[in-house]
Amino acid sequence: MSFNKPGENIISRYRGRFAPSPTGPLHFGSLVAAVGSFLEARSRGGEWLVRMEDLDLPRTVPGAADDILRTLDAFGLYWDGEVMVQSTRNEAYRAALDEMEKLGAVYPCACTRKEIADSAISGIDGPVYPGICRAGLPEGRAPRAMRVYTDPGSPFRFDDALQGRVSQNLETEVGDFVVRRADGLFAYQLAVVVDDAEQAITHVVRGADLLDSTPRQIYLQQLLSLPTPAYLHLPVAVNERGEKLGKQTLAPAVSRVNPVTQLCEALAFLNQAPPEELKDADLDAFWKWAIAHWRVDRLPAVRSRPLSRVKALG
Ligand code: GLU
Repeated sequence: MSFNKPGENIISRYRGRFAPSPTGPLHFGSLVAAVGSFLEARSRGGEWLVRMEDLDLPRTVPGAADDILRTLDAFGLYWDGEVMVQSTRNEAYRAALDEMEKLGAVYPCACTRKEIADSAISGIDGPVYPGICRAGLPEGRAPRAMRVYTDPGSPFRFDDALQGRVSQNLETEVGDFVVRRADGLFAYQLAVVVDDAEQAITHVVRGADLLDSTPRQIYLQQLLSLPTPAYLHLPVAVNERGEKLGKQTLAPAVSRVNPVTQLCEALAFLNQAPPEELKDADLDAFWKWAIAHWRVDRLPAVRSRPLSRVKALG
């Protein structure tokens, strides 16, 4: 499975997706991920699905899911089929966890966040679990989370269609990671793997903030005997301080009033060189142009890009 290069034949089966977390309205950063995954799918005659990642209930904002879908619709980002909603899928996640338990791939962990922070070295994505409960729960301690054993040994490698080869030693850089949290919720890493398989996703195009999660996801796919899609991680939009544009940085919501202007900005961010007059096009004409001119080899092969620089160029 590979991503298209100029002149390469279009493959007959392509299924991409956009998987927003409804923690607030769509902002420019998530618009870029939506546009990139949509264009890659549509330019290859593929399907494009939407999945609402509302698993992390404490972070979910009431009304945000509907608001995101209304925005996608207003931007002409029309999806195929029904929207998958993670909060309705606990049974599927539980079945996956049961299977991992049968395989002896997971273990209960009693450690609190503080205990881990006190004794762990810091890894690629927070503290590396120091393995306290690996050989069994300490006397008198109750299980909180479920963790998956990571393999010692050689680095885990995969080829990202834009970012190139990614190499990560899961055991030393991430450590045994949580698949069911202490609050009983299933972890994103497990849910995304189960859902990508359920939706038969062949190609994942998303922000490079998730690049470091991908080895964990491929590892879980292999444990659960699920197919591994192809991955392409787009640069994420950051502010001058290098912070991802999002809720934390108070990124403004995209406005449903002038979709084409903002879509042109997303294209410029992705280096697709939209002509100045495209800003005056209607949605149909915009998408016709964008699909016909979409070029993966123009994408900036970086993990992040300051938005201010792109706007200044445009
Ligand atoms: N829900 C995740 C986010 O909004 C994206 C997950 C994914 O694309 O795999 O950051």
